Amino acid sequence: MSDLTKLTLKAALAGLKARDFSSVDITKAHIEAIEQARGLNAYVLETPDHALAMAAESDARLARGEGGALEGAPLGIKDLFCTEGVRSTAASKILGNFVPAYESTVTSQLWRDGAVMLGKLNLDEFAMGSSNETSAFGPVINPWRRSGSDAALTPGGSSGGSAAATAADLCLAATATDTGGSIRQPASFTGTVGIKPTYGRCSRWGIIAFASSLDQAGPIAKTVEDAAIMLRSMSGHDVKDSTSLPVEVPDFASYVGKSVKGLRIGVPKEYRVPGMPAEIEKLWADGIAWLKDAGCEIVEVSLPHTKYALPAYYIVAPAEASSNLARYDGMRYGLRAGGPSLTDVYEESRAQGFGEEVKRRILIGTYVLSAGYYDAYYLKAQKVRRRIADDFDQAWQTCDALLTPTAPSAAFALGEQSDDPIAMYLNDIFTVTTNLAGLPGLSLPAGRDAQGLPLGLQLIGRALDEGTLFSLAGALEKAAGFTAKADRWW
Ligand code: GLN
Repeated sequence: MSDLTKLTLKAALAGLKARDFSSVDITKAHIEAIEQARGLNAYVLETPDHALAMAAESDARLARGEGGALEGAPLGIKDLFCTEGVRSTAASKILGNFVPAYESTVTSQLWRDGAVMLGKLNLDEFAMGSSNETSAFGPVINPWRRSGSDAALTPGGSSGGSAAATAADLCLAATATDTGGSIRQPASFTGTVGIKPTYGRCSRWGIIAFASSLDQAGPIAKTVEDAAIMLRSMSGHDVKDSTSLPVEVPDFASYVGKSVKGLRIGVPKEYRVPGMPAEIEKLWADGIAWLKDAGCEIVEVSLPHTKYALPAYYIVAPAEASSNLARYDGMRYGLRAGGPSLTDVYEESRAQGFGEEVKRRILIGTYVLSAGYYDAYYLKAQKVRRRIADDFDQAWQTCDALLTPTAPSAAFALGEQSDDPIAMYLNDIFTVTTNLAGLPGLSLPAGRDAQGLPLGLQLIGRALDEGTLFSLAGALEKAAGFTAKADRWW
């Protein structure tokens, strides 16, 4: 049998349905691949027994001619999703060996549709970071390397485990989350496809909170169509999350391959930032040309408040994080340290349990929310956020979607930016705007830099218009013809 881990999700689902191979077969193939790839540090917990039991149940359903939309497909789960009876850590020491008593809505929908869980994937601690280096389990290593170099590169963050595992064929696809770019930037760094849907498309229930007004779940997958298949299962209204939207979930995959003729594509001039590598300029120009060839009309648009997006994000996100993370006090979850007084326990548990970046965010967030500074920082940032959303509304008068690069660089080496938080935050320059405005954003691999590393293009759409993004991404995927995989060294 050929290597089942190399299949796309779509091909695997077809093979499972046709009973060319069983779910146990494809699950075993992935378990072996994961064992051989421990050097990538993509999984923080492997659950092979659990996976094989789920696969056997899937096989029984398939034998009866039953089965859901993901029946028998082995997936990886970012360790920010609570999984019932399976350790969930957010890659933080403070959660210790926390074993949730409940399942997140998104993952429960995947199991409802027949998917198989291979294990939990590494991430930046509490999803704060752009390189996976803030994880308490150590960084994920990108399967891609610069040509002629064996330097370890970051897979991006925070969903670095999800991206690396998908790129290295350690799962057919993975769940991820995106608060400021954590699905799209790792997808761009690893040659995979990722979509952050509209805020409210996926339930946040059971996803460990970072910044609740920005957090959104989405998939990382090998192809545009695979991402569409995943997103359909992950989406849907949930009464347990008051911000989840009571709207129909379209068959996203049916948009892939649809004509994009006549669509108007906006190119925002403010995304042409100083110092952008020529290769990224070229990739963007290629993307524009490909969409033109496919019959789109290209229009220049202006999003004048773009330059305030990053500063606003780095106020709003830490503010919400400082509030969300107040619950980790050594009393109810995970790590407990210190004593003998209650205050000692609070202080010691938090001092030992949180990593440096998380502490930095809590400090910034507490500061910007404090009396006397609230108006100057938090309130101001909220006003900027409104302006950014207004900019997009204005753009939709003249275009149907926007095309931009996903990230300002290709994958960088581990350690290269970890001493400089500002440099690290600049990774999010093209991605945070959609989180602030609640809009969908998709990244797909569209080219490679001079050192052979993948580069992603980002499509941004109107609220709840993921369908158009999937059509456009399908057209770009076809034109770009990106089929390269990382040479296996692990
Ligand atoms: N890199 C951004 C941050 O560190 C985004 C993280 C995310 O989307 N979860 O906040």
